[in-house]
Amino acid sequence: MLVDIIVVGAGAAGVVAAGRAAELGASVLLLEKMEKPLRKLRISGKGRGNITNTKPPEEFLQKIYPDASFLRPAFSLFFSAQLVQLLGKIGVRTVEERGGRVFPASQRAWDVAEALTRWARRAGVELLCHAQVASIAQRSDGLFSVTFRHKGATRTAQGKKLLLATGGLAYPATGSTGDGYGWAKKLGHRIAPLRPALTPIEVAGFAKHGFRDLTLRNVKLTATADGRPIGEALGELMFTGFGVSGPIALRLSRSVVDALQAQRKVALMLDWKPALSRQQLQNRLERELQRSEIHSVGALLRKLMPAPFIPFFAEQAALQIRAKVCENDRQRVVDTLKCCTLHAFGYRPFSEAIITAGGVLTDEVDGATMQSKLAKGLYFAGELLDVDADTGGYNLQIAFSTGWLAGSSMAADSPQTTSWE
Ligand SMILES: Cc1cc2nc3c(=O)[nH]c(=O)nc-3n(C[C@H](O)[C@H](O)[C@H](O)COP(=O)(O)OP(=O)(O)OC[C@H]3O[C@@H](n4cnc5c(N)ncnc54)[C@H](O)[C@@H]3O)c2cc1C
Repeated sequence: MLVDIIVVGAGAAGVVAAGRAAELGASVLLLEKMEKPLRKLRISGKGRGNITNTKPPEEFLQKIYPDASFLRPAFSLFFSAQLVQLLGKIGVRTVEERGGRVFPASQRAWDVAEALTRWARRAGVELLCHAQVASIAQRSDGLFSVTFRHKGATRTAQGKKLLLATGGLAYPATGSTGDGYGWAKKLGHRIAPLRPALTPIEVAGFAKHGFRDLTLRNVKLTATADGRPIGEALGELMFTGFGVSGPIALRLSRSVVDALQAQRKVALMLDWKPALSRQQLQNRLERELQRSEIHSVGALLRKLMPAPFIPFFAEQAALQIRAKVCENDRQRVVDTLKCCTLHAFGYRPFSEAIITAGGVLTDEVDGATMQSKLAKGLYFAGELLDVDADTGGYNLQIAFSTGWLAGSSMAADSPQTTSWE
């Protein structure tokens, strides 16, 4: 049972790596513990699959942490245009939406998953599902010995090269339970601390309001730690039963999680009307009060925000909803609209996070090949690495690009094709 390449994990990175290496003539065994490959890709982008982004490389790299430059060689080999081209070749048309985000034209991430799986299998990849890898060792002759459970039996395969593409810890129900970190460590690698990222933020006092995913559009959120700004985002925010979620909360969550882990005091300053200055808001309030039959604070607030937010807003501004509007109240309304302070005390766990921050340190991986600098023949790709990005299609492109580069480099010196029986 000897193959050129064993790939552990049939996520976006593993499938692309395996398919590419097989296209180039290597014999590839792809092991996936779940019942089907690409479970996470199938649910990505709320099932629509925001597979990449058309932003130019420099702008793209700005969305990636902590060291985007590690990805330059992978992106120069296989970037968004090459991904779209590959998908087109295998029957998946794509469409570009606002902000350069690319989706399959069918709006079904499932179609991308099925097409990539077909492509990899046709290229010759031997894909085994329900194959849970239990242990990995590098023998003294350099071969990798991989032991896995399959159909109730324990089996062992030997590979000249090994790719770990087991993903991170986010959404473990998709199969990503962080198994690769332990093997990477065993093979000599260091792991940057693992934290949930792109994860909702818990806010003090939200529980009693019982918000049920209420969305505010065009608002601005500024995060501070010990009073110093650590991030700012403009767009859509969701109030949930425990705190805030939605695009701008997720975007800020990376710095919020780090600040909370460092025991810093984190506040989120919400500007409900970022397009209006204080003076403009003041004028608008005056106009509302003159024009209409507004007598109570509650009636005034109804002109400014959707009704379900009013009790919360009134509490933040220390206003009585039924009271008559007085001069002092107007000032409080303006102040709270421009700066409503939410105290972040926690964040949601990996089970609700979109991505894992931290992972296999990129200093110890050759960015030109994805090969380990410490163990010859060992490769890494995807979320397992210490790179993560904002929402917008960047994370999947990282998985596809690092997978493609790993597959290409592993196959480059694997001329012999042995087949898996
Ligand atoms: C809800 C959600 C929505 C998302 N939406 C988007 C989006 O729209 N756009 C975007 O760019 N990114 C999105 N992401 C992030 C993106 O899906 C991931 O970054 C990407 O899928 C990572 O790919 P990967 O191949 O590195 O890892 P994974 O997709 O996690 O694949 C790892 C695979 O390894 C397998 N595995 C693990 N351990 C073993 C083992 N012991 N033996 C065998 N197999 C094993 C797992 O079962 C899994 O199939 C989303 C993530 C989530 C959770």
